[in-house]
Amino acid sequence: MRWENRPRFGLAETGFMNRDEFYRRIADLLDTCGLESKTVAVIGLGSGGSRVAAELGRLGIQLLLVERPGELLEEHNIVRHLLGYRSLGKPKLTEMAAYIQNLNPGARVIAWPLDAVEQGRRLGRLLEERRPDLIAVCTDNEPSKHAINQLALRLRLPQIGAAVYDGGIGGEVYRASPGKACYGCIAAQLQLRYQPRDSRQAQNYSNPSVEEGQATCALSLDIEQIALLQCRMALDLLLGQEHSLLRLPPEVNLCVFANRVVPGTFARPLHCEFFSVSKRADCLECGEAPAQVEAEAERILRGLKSPAVISRSAP
Ligand SMILES: [Zn+2]
Repeated sequence: MRWENRPRFGLAETGFMNRDEFYRRIADLLDTCGLESKTVAVIGLGSGGSRVAAELGRLGIQLLLVERPGELLEEHNIVRHLLGYRSLGKPKLTEMAAYIQNLNPGARVIAWPLDAVEQGRRLGRLLEERRPDLIAVCTDNEPSKHAINQLALRLRLPQIGAAVYDGGIGGEVYRASPGKACYGCIAAQLQLRYQPRDSRQAQNYSNPSVEEGQATCALSLDIEQIALLQCRMALDLLLGQEHSLLRLPPEVNLCVFANRVVPGTFARPLHCEFFSVSKRADCLECGEAPAQVEAEAERILRGLKSPAVISRSAP
């Protein structure tokens, strides 16, 4: 489905957009023309992914939106999702495309109703054909993150992904660039660094329709905080080191942000820690040494069964 060929909404209905006027207040900050030439695949349009897509689309970045077929906005989504009651019962995918085109009628948005795990091969073919500059990983479960990681590795596409911790206490944003630590490497580091907690249900942007009992408990503002960090890192990757706004050292590939104080976990509120995770030679997804494959497989399986990343252990 090509949203760019569908009827447009909002301002675009008038057929008029004064581009210079639209970008006037940010033109000194960003190369808006350069950004319009970039393409980002946003995979997952839940409460986090919807924010990521909207912020990038607002800046005129071309978007490939990916969401599971038949994924509708339900009433319990609305308290945290970008979309509201006007979209109730409608597909998140097409509603988000319309939302973004109302923010920036010049944005080119293509909507792909695909399941990243079950239709991974098809997603891979489409990504190979379109070659986005970046994949924004906004899905809500570990299997999909690893599936996307493997596609990104094969196609040599960079990824910026994120997760919100249970309770909305904070979250993490990672970047995985070709040839460097992949999501498998980073996930392994997170499991070493944080101790599982039995009560933790899920760490990712929540989408209650997937696993009702495993939805992350978090407020909209908790999720949005992490989603905006993900947007910042995505934007920096698109702008390149020379025009970076964040000036994050290139070796940093993981940020863990505390939304609030949690004794034993986060000592300071609204505080970010930065990590440089090394590529693992024994990583099942990008590594080269098969000697520890079985042990690594066992570790990943354990992580998938109990992907807790909350209670911090001593580093
Ligand atoms: Zn790896």
